[in-house]
Amino acid sequence: MTMRDFGSGSAGVPTLELKSPSPATGPDELGAAHVRGRPKVPNAHCFASDGKTMLFLVDHGAIFELAAPLAAALEPAMDCADRARVDHLLAGAALNPLPLPEEATLEAVPMHAISLAVAEKCNLGCTYCYAQQGSFGGAAKNMTLEVARTAIDRLLMDAGPGSKVSLTFLGGEPLANFETLRLATFHAREQAEAADIKIAFSLTTNGTLLSPSHCAFFEQHRFCVTVSLDGAGEVHDALRPYKSGRGSYHDIVTRLKPWLRAPERRCEVRARVTVTPRNLCLPETLAALMELGFASVQFSPMLFAPSGASEMQAADLAVLLEQMIACGETFERRLEEGRWYPWANVISTLQKIHRYRREAYPCGAGGGYLGVSAEGGLYACHRFVNDEQGKMGNIRDGVDSTRQAAWLAHRNVHRQEPCRECWARYLCSGGCHHEAIHRGRPACDYIRGWLDYCLGLYTRLLKRQPPLLDRILGDFPG
Ligand code: SF4
Ligand code: SF4
Repeated sequence: MTMRDFGSGSAGVPTLELKSPSPATGPDELGAAHVRGRPKVPNAHCFASDGKTMLFLVDHGAIFELAAPLAAALEPAMDCADRARVDHLLAGAALNPLPLPEEATLEAVPMHAISLAVAEKCNLGCTYCYAQQGSFGGAAKNMTLEVARTAIDRLLMDAGPGSKVSLTFLGGEPLANFETLRLATFHAREQAEAADIKIAFSLTTNGTLLSPSHCAFFEQHRFCVTVSLDGAGEVHDALRPYKSGRGSYHDIVTRLKPWLRAPERRCEVRARVTVTPRNLCLPETLAALMELGFASVQFSPMLFAPSGASEMQAADLAVLLEQMIACGETFERRLEEGRWYPWANVISTLQKIHRYRREAYPCGAGGGYLGVSAEGGLYACHRFVNDEQGKMGNIRDGVDSTRQAAWLAHRNVHRQEPCRECWARYLCSGGCHHEAIHRGRPACDYIRGWLDYCLGLYTRLLKRQPPLLDRILGDFPG
């Protein structure tokens, strides 16, 4: 566990003259939760937990419970964005622990994870698809086995003996080219064993082509399988129909149910829900997907679609935040009753808080993780496939080190605006690069509102049930 201090911090509260509140702290028609996380000063954030005012120190990862007099002095100073006064108050209360080391700007990172777009085509017609209905805006194509093998060989060569790598199959719909996926898996396993490298396999699928023999294969190789489902029944059908317009939910569930219910299942099978303005019914979706037997459920808001369809706007994101908090309250109640609630969003956020580091990148994209197109191009991640802005070389010549160094320098959170001054910068790390490059940052209030809520939840769990918190955060795969 990273440093988590709880102190009263009540010493030396000077009397202060207040400036006018900054506009960022004023009322907002989008709701209190939306506003609560807005940045005031870059080095600290106040949040509520169990009726107490808590202080989160950004560079230290420390949390303090504030005594009432200090809270009464600090909060107005923060509302005025008066950094000097905030620093003065914190120093006066001896709330100035040593900062954690800052994550350096990376220049080159050895590859340790790739995703193969084995099928740049899809049988569904989801309007918001980042891959433009599977083909990434070009002609539909399959990856050849030769391309897959060359990419895997490069991954293993870069990683080196004794390391761990991960290989993900994506599309379009990867099961539309199962033969390449199958043979590439055998090749990867053989070559990794020969090179003394541990390899983990995963797959993201729409589930419509899944057969019992696919399931047996994924069991044999211990895949982690993510199925894209946007809700139950008609809610899903409206967003993820076949190209003909027919709904796909019934087919997916019919194919998946026996596997999800199999008592001997060893594969981790997760659900991933893309949240759009049309399926903002998160508690119902979570309950329905957990009932089906998924090992975990993850919500991801739709922030950028090449078609512009179904993108979340400010009012939708405010509703999303309320819905996320409602799910969080259920999570907390279930834990208090000693029941498990495998909701990935809350668990991964609690893990981030628990293992706090000054992370300068939101993900491995463009660093240790790269996406491979059907033709063997290397891209910053699966969403950048065939997008010049994320081009990183090709599987034959390897990573273009100049492009990678430029990417890593530019994408560091300290180079991003307005992230440099945001209290959430090491928990959010600037958000998804693909969304930021293509749409900007429309979801900051949502992100910070969610983090603000999770800091409160984390603090409550840490106070009331520390062994349970440790177990949850340790056991759940990241
Ligand atoms: S993207 Fe994240 S770090 Fe950047 S300003 Fe928004 S919430 Fe803060
Ligand atoms: S850039 Fe976005 S889509 Fe790509 S790996 Fe990072 S978070 Fe995921």
